[in-house]
Amino acid sequence: MDTLLKTHNKLEFLSQHHGILDKSSNLSSSKIHKQEVRFGQRKSQEKKVRNGCVKASSSALLELVPETKKENLEFELPMYDPSKGLAVDLAVVGGGPAGLAVAQQVSEAGLSVCSIDPSPRLIWPNNYGVWVDEFEAMDLLDCLDTTWSGAVVYIDDNMQKDLGRPYGRVNRKQLKSKMMQKCISNGVKFHQAKVIKVIHEESKSFLICNDGVTIEAAVVLDATGFSRCLVQYDKPYNPGYQVAYGILAEVEEHPFDVDKMVFMDWRDSHLNGNVAMKEANRRIPTFLYAMPFSSNRIFLEETSLVARPGVPMKDIQERMVARLRHLGIKVKSIEEDEHCVIPMGGPLPVLPQRVVGIGGTAGMVHPSTGYMVARTLAAAPIVANAIVRSLGSGRSLSGNELSAEVWKDLWPIERRRQREFFCFGMDILLKLDLPGTRRFFDAFFDLEPHYWHGFLSSRLFLPELIFFGLSLFSHASNTSRIEIMAKGTLPLANMIGNLVQDRD
Ligand SMILES: Cc1cc2nc3c(=O)[nH]c(=O)nc-3n(C[C@H](O)[C@H](O)[C@H](O)COP(=O)(O)OP(=O)(O)OC[C@H]3O[C@@H](n4cnc5c(N)ncnc54)[C@H](O)[C@@H]3O)c2cc1C
Repeated sequence: MDTLLKTHNKLEFLSQHHGILDKSSNLSSSKIHKQEVRFGQRKSQEKKVRNGCVKASSSALLELVPETKKENLEFELPMYDPSKGLAVDLAVVGGGPAGLAVAQQVSEAGLSVCSIDPSPRLIWPNNYGVWVDEFEAMDLLDCLDTTWSGAVVYIDDNMQKDLGRPYGRVNRKQLKSKMMQKCISNGVKFHQAKVIKVIHEESKSFLICNDGVTIEAAVVLDATGFSRCLVQYDKPYNPGYQVAYGILAEVEEHPFDVDKMVFMDWRDSHLNGNVAMKEANRRIPTFLYAMPFSSNRIFLEETSLVARPGVPMKDIQERMVARLRHLGIKVKSIEEDEHCVIPMGGPLPVLPQRVVGIGGTAGMVHPSTGYMVARTLAAAPIVANAIVRSLGSGRSLSGNELSAEVWKDLWPIERRRQREFFCFGMDILLKLDLPGTRRFFDAFFDLEPHYWHGFLSSRLFLPELIFFGLSLFSHASNTSRIEIMAKGTLPLANMIGNLVQDRD
């Protein structure tokens, strides 16, 4: 069994048997295995457990996963020349969506930028999904490769909710190419390395890379995602964990409507034959998230919304196999798979601090959902403007003063309060079992779209969030109300305490 280890600055999966890590993603786009597996038909892939139940084994599914094949963008990158030792205005550590978005926008204003990443050309590995309206608002519709006119939520075998909100899959190659092209034409320099250390002087900082190169910058931005390379935290790190296993697969057929993505499928009848698994899923439920691209190509992801400690990946994979078998989904080949571990909630970094941050490193993941891409891309201009304004003519701030301005704009009091409310939401979700989770989402998706859209997309702020909470309570069944009161009182008190303490 895997154990999720929490360390102050790192997130690691350790296998007790092998003592090795389980990395975030293993992807390939072209290599397709032609072996066919029919779940429920290959006896060799099923294990008899002691109580006589058939245990779903994930080994047959995993056999279809191709070897990791990393795909790179074919760009000639203008590289930082260490022999010249040029100082830059901004050094961005990490070339994920968060880091590149800021690099692009700061360089657009004419400032010098160096982007440092161990694999700057690598196409981002994660399969990102967003609500279409979020990307539309940022003029990024060309960076979605598939859209669905709506989404569906299966609460249980008898109840289904149709969400009339279009959803899209991010074309990560297109998004990264677009950002890189702009960075290149704005004069951004790239350095292929890992940053291992930062040394600050009063008005400048020095980044030490693992290849021995030192880069001097007026401002350092840590955009290293959940590895949180430079940004400091001073409170115990106690996030919840979203854990998911996803496959992009060629299947014989699947039962889903190709015009709708499956946002959440909480049905559990696939576990009827396995008492232990059914009980484990009742206590800490997982759901299916699915993007049907065609009648025989689909992305399927078994997901634990949030748990502390995180659900072991092996359990998630076994539940997925049982579900696919039950749904009659026969996987013919797997194009890519995804091991997803997202820390959610927990404390914000020290505010302010000398290194500035954005994205995973800066506590920006939605504490109740695990989503972040759209929120980060929308926050990039805020960070970029604060840097440009502070360094630009007239103000010329530097060092700690400059960083304080950036942090103030990234985490103003209303955003901190919003996050506190989302953490409260996460604390409730952590306590709900499967029936409670079903009742919660039954009431949640019955709210006015303004509220549930706004909650999921971080558009509601405290006054509206209170109204949202009350409305959710009024839509809830009596059982659910009692449950929310019983399980939500302590988190509510914590939230109120934190809100009162946190002032500008
Ligand atoms: C598998 C998975 C699926 C997800 N799916 C979604 C989704 O569907 N929708 C959504 O909204 N969110 C999703 N998220 C959450 C979040 O949006 C992503 O994690 C997103 O990639 C975070 O962006 P980022 O730029 O902050 O960090 P990352 O994308 O993690 O980028 C960090 C970069 O920093 C580099 N780096 C790390 N350490 C160093 C160092 N020391 N020196 C230099 N570079 C370094 C890494 O190589 C990497 O390129 C998902 C997360 C995961 C893990």
